Amino acid sequence: MTTTEPFTYLERRDDTFLDDLRSLLAQPSISATGDGIDDCVTLVRESCLEYGFDVVDIVETPGQPAVVAHASPDDEPHADGLSVLLYGHYDVQPATASEWASPPFEPTVRDGPDGRTRLYARGAGDNKGQWFAHLCAIRALRETTGVPIDVTLIIEGEEESGSKHLEWLVRERRDELDADVAFVADGPIDASGRPHVLLGSRGLLYVDIEATGANRDLHSGNFGGPVPNPATAIVELIASLRDEDGQIALESFYDDVRPLTDRDRDVLESIPLDEDGVKADLGLSTLATDPGEEYLERLLTRPNLNVAGLDAGYDGDGMKTVLPSHARAKIDFRLVADQDPDDVFELLSRHVEARAPAGIDVTVERVAAMAPQRTAVESPVVEPVMQAVQEGWGEDPILKPSLGGSVPTYVFADNLEIPCLVVPYANADENNHAPDENIELSCFRAGARTTVSMLEELSKADLE
Ligand SMILES: [Zn+2]
Repeated sequence: MTTTEPFTYLERRDDTFLDDLRSLLAQPSISATGDGIDDCVTLVRESCLEYGFDVVDIVETPGQPAVVAHASPDDEPHADGLSVLLYGHYDVQPATASEWASPPFEPTVRDGPDGRTRLYARGAGDNKGQWFAHLCAIRALRETTGVPIDVTLIIEGEEESGSKHLEWLVRERRDELDADVAFVADGPIDASGRPHVLLGSRGLLYVDIEATGANRDLHSGNFGGPVPNPATAIVELIASLRDEDGQIALESFYDDVRPLTDRDRDVLESIPLDEDGVKADLGLSTLATDPGEEYLERLLTRPNLNVAGLDAGYDGDGMKTVLPSHARAKIDFRLVADQDPDDVFELLSRHVEARAPAGIDVTVERVAAMAPQRTAVESPVVEPVMQAVQEGWGEDPILKPSLGGSVPTYVFADNLEIPCLVVPYANADENNHAPDENIELSCFRAGARTTVSMLEELSKADLE
């Protein structure tokens, strides 16, 4: 196998790589406050150059700068070989030092509760440790068998603030970023400890629905009856969003949902799931799946409407006979390929407008949106990537049609018209966004090996 040499090199240079990762983690880079961003972006650029990228640019955006780096093959690339776009982010979540066992920006190696050795620091898993594994892979290939295909790496600085300018950046540099496949190492591996390959993610549409009645709160005895109640209006509106079968009742809402193929169903069925364990964990006796519908089908391939919050009137102890003047609901839709959040927002606005009761002013405000994305399981990039993860982790990955949550993979898939796969390198208990964030050293090493194998496998792959 050709990976032997780079794998050996990774092992030999393990101490150096960990030291360099620690330096990167010691540099704060909090996009929410801007703290350390400029110093971090300089460090990212220097690291990319030192680790074997040929061309590295700091790219200014209307927000925080990004880094774009290119590594070209040492030899002539394989004629059928694919080029790859790697994505990561250097910005991190804020951290409150007093909640941490060791300071968030003083990277510390120690054993976790399960005895596995971990590197603790803000950004260890989310996401510096994951894209630094790509750098180690490039270095290992440069020093041994050579970089086999064209690699472009984009590391943005606004992911923890909603990736506000990622799409702008990809459009702006479309030609430069163009590749045959996008590969995103972010998020945790499967809770079982096995690696997984995700073919996409569900989209998101988050809205506030506000209902306003009288110009002030009123006595429900002196005014209740003739004066319309915005709290009643908003719960009736929410109820109208589902039909009696539990389906989302917006007209033509399901029209753009891409039907599952037999192959998609095979993939769903091959995912290990302990449904009774899920119920026991959540303290539930029944789940909200329809007859004949599987848990994972619903979670990963069907859209959902979730009432995230309701706010109206009096909710303290005892009683207050109030007729509120105002009510608000927060709702998030999870969307699936090929639904468009703009279209769903239109459908929702029309639905609400048509049903707002007399005397109540109802508005729908869009808070956030992200398109869904799903690479077809038949795509020629799936098999080489599955093979690479197997080589990197020494274990068969679980293939999943999608992440239940939302990450901006559509930015690459839609703008560059390429398949996009998510292959997380962090342990399931990485504590991202929380105190004591960490990455297991074994996961970091498996990630670096996976990137080596992925580049080698894609260099041999054929688009046909
Ligand atoms: Zn994050």
